[in-house]
Amino acid sequence: MDLSAHTPVMRQYLTIKAAHPSRLLFYRMGDFYELFYEDAEKAARLLDISLTRRGSSAGQPIPMAGVPFHAAEAYLARLVEKGESVAICEQIGDPATSKGPVERQVVRVVTPGTVTESALLPDHKDAPLVALVEQSGRLGVALMILSQGRFEVLETRVEDRQAELERLQPREVLIREKMGVETGTWVVQSLPTWQFDVERAQRDLQDYFGVRELAAFGQLSGLMLSAAGALLSYVRQTQGQRLPHIDQIRVLAPDIWVRMDSVTRRNLELTETLRGADKPTLFSVFDGCATAMGRRLLRHWLHHPLRDRDVILARQQAISTLIGEGDARHAAEVARCLRATGDVERIMSRMAMATVRPRDLVSLRETLQQLPAIGVALGKVDDPVLRHWHQVLAHFPPELRMCLEQAIAQEPATVIREGGVIASGYDQELDEWRAIQTDCGAFLKDLENRERERTGIPSLKVEYNRVHGFYIEVTHVHRASIPADYQRRQTLKNAERYLTPELKAFEERALSAGERALAREKWLYAQLLERLTEYLGVLKQLALALAEMDVLANMAERAVTLQLCRPQINLEAELEIAGGRHPVVEQQVSKFVPNDGLLNGGRRLLLITGPNMGGKSTYMRQTALIVLLAMVGSYVPAKAARIGLVDQIFTRIGSGDDLASGRSTFLVEMAEAAYILHNATPRSLVLIDEIGRGTSTFDGLALAQAIARHLLEVNRALCLFATHYFEMTQMEKVFPHVINVHLDAVEHRDEIVFLHALADGPASRSYGLQVAALAGIPRQALRWSRQLLVRLEEQDLARVGPQGDLFLGGLPGHGGKEIEQEPLPRHPVIERLIHLEADQLTPRMALELLYELIDQAGH
Ligand code: ADP
Repeated sequence: MDLSAHTPVMRQYLTIKAAHPSRLLFYRMGDFYELFYEDAEKAARLLDISLTRRGSSAGQPIPMAGVPFHAAEAYLARLVEKGESVAICEQIGDPATSKGPVERQVVRVVTPGTVTESALLPDHKDAPLVALVEQSGRLGVALMILSQGRFEVLETRVEDRQAELERLQPREVLIREKMGVETGTWVVQSLPTWQFDVERAQRDLQDYFGVRELAAFGQLSGLMLSAAGALLSYVRQTQGQRLPHIDQIRVLAPDIWVRMDSVTRRNLELTETLRGADKPTLFSVFDGCATAMGRRLLRHWLHHPLRDRDVILARQQAISTLIGEGDARHAAEVARCLRATGDVERIMSRMAMATVRPRDLVSLRETLQQLPAIGVALGKVDDPVLRHWHQVLAHFPPELRMCLEQAIAQEPATVIREGGVIASGYDQELDEWRAIQTDCGAFLKDLENRERERTGIPSLKVEYNRVHGFYIEVTHVHRASIPADYQRRQTLKNAERYLTPELKAFEERALSAGERALAREKWLYAQLLERLTEYLGVLKQLALALAEMDVLANMAERAVTLQLCRPQINLEAELEIAGGRHPVVEQQVSKFVPNDGLLNGGRRLLLITGPNMGGKSTYMRQTALIVLLAMVGSYVPAKAARIGLVDQIFTRIGSGDDLASGRSTFLVEMAEAAYILHNATPRSLVLIDEIGRGTSTFDGLALAQAIARHLLEVNRALCLFATHYFEMTQMEKVFPHVINVHLDAVEHRDEIVFLHALADGPASRSYGLQVAALAGIPRQALRWSRQLLVRLEEQDLARVGPQGDLFLGGLPGHGGKEIEQEPLPRHPVIERLIHLEADQLTPRMALELLYELIDQAGH
């Protein structure tokens, strides 16, 4: 790159920028961070700031945009939120002594997955950073959450990549150049291949942790090393500093959690609705946590149901203890204490990253002052888990609290920049400098009195102004009484200003006292932060203790408020639920009808039929949620439940949300089904809703039946299978493990009333038109469609499926008539109707569709 035509500053800029091509470069100039060229245009667009010009270089005008240095954080927050990375370039040389442009250097790169500052990171969510590497069908995953000090690796199968991403919810994903990866809510950064080199990774990790052998951390495979090495070097490069709170790497086995694929997580609406909203979700209903740490941990738990029965039982036991006599009084007391605590986890990470703010330290101090009260609350309950956390609290080193009490002022300034952070009495020297500043007034008064007495001039004044500093002012009238040691400083119209040696000496001390106090304070603060890093380990422990107590206390309170029961956890693959409810739907309807469920070796597939809107998918989802909650260790929305340990939960529900992505619905549906058939085991829970809709009736039915059979005979999984293919209810006769159940509705004066109660046997009839009426289709249109139906059914050209779907063309076994001719091709109008959910069908659309249909039938 030839830069010779550019101005010296632009040459420097372009050289630095060349090392950060994909990032925005914040180039410090005085009180601003400036951006140039494309960066300026991009920033102006993203931040809505004005785009100006800064002269020209190499004969071209330079587009420029800038943000004031003191407000940079707010702008950074917006850029990071939009997935941008920003390289912060500071002036590091001294402008006074440098020839040409002052020396500048990128001191830090802010990326979406490496932020810890409170302004850049939302309270309720972490920003995990993930590195992925693939080889021979295996996937290495490294995870770092800087704001928790967490660093983990695992190895799994490549086909689980998307499921892993959906579980980890990263903000930023690092991959090797040319590797493909799913898009999502994360930003993808591709790194050069050499950064994933295994030997380099091993060396770097050993260096970083200061160990000869990494074996102390567990068995790290080559893929784990490669992912961990790339991740660590990325973080060290971008942060430009040590990460004292990342002091170990944990090797995880992928099978410690109930596996869920990405679709399942979304379908079950654990922390986000299908439409991407925060509520209503399982999380929004279950979250009554007292702290942000608890909230984040709860979110994590809901996404990580366990397969270890002992841990599940331990959590249950703690919840049960906190519920006590049934009023969760102890839980409320623990929660009350926790409400007064700060976000220890985030404060700990900011301490480690040296971005901690004085207010954080106050918050930490208040938290530590709260520990005895929490200890008292915990002392009233007796339970192994809670006792463990109680111990952590009880043994927390008291020096830290005392140190913060002594060092930090009662109400410190927001930033150390202008001082006012360190408490008085902490450091003698600081106190002295400060005393000079505050004693200034008293000294001057005293001097004034003394000089008046000495000179006999009653109007003599000792004063100060910014330009001339301190002076003694005497009017011309008294000129004759001026002592010899007065040196003239300035002459005014009717007065003279003087300086004495005493005043001069005072001035020197006073003027430097402010600067010295500030310098001393900054130094003390830096010392303090250095000292606090000793406590990172215990603070991490404390954060975990507070978060987990919060979640458990919250679960106890929820169990009482939402009337949940403690499920029995079994080793066999079975589930028996009495009076199960959908925890989210039940909050939205006036009266929720509880339903039972029984799946075991003898009843492996419940085939669910019933009208649209009857409650089929609610029933299936509630079953999955109850199982999931049980594996999390929570109580569950049921009267009683016995749940066997489950290894995986799969769902294939609905297709509406896929339509938007542009992929063929049918293809997506079949890909999801294939994944389930390849992976489900006898310990898996499988939910399938309406499979086969995306193709012709015959194909669809045949496929649905075949999928059900595969699940029964090959996977032997526990299944809930809802279908609109009424023909499938015949399976019960052939396959002993299939049980027909249905959700019913009754007609009442031309209206349909859904019972929402699960009953044995197949559904008996359909209510398609009644459902359409509910959706608001005008009566006249309904009448026409009834006539049309009668006509079509008479001719055996169409029939109505159990959920009101219209089928043109005959179906096997229908009406006793052998159908040999090709079925009528399905009209696009009908295709559309079948895929519409009742609530998407507007009266106008329905009318249009019906007109077209009637038209078609007339031909
Ligand atoms: P389907 O899958 O059969 O079309 P849904 O499960 O979507 O039906 O249920 C439709 C609506 O019926 C739900 O949004 C909910 O309002 C209500 N519903 C479902 N199950 C119940 C129930 N057990 N008790 C009360 N209302 C229910």
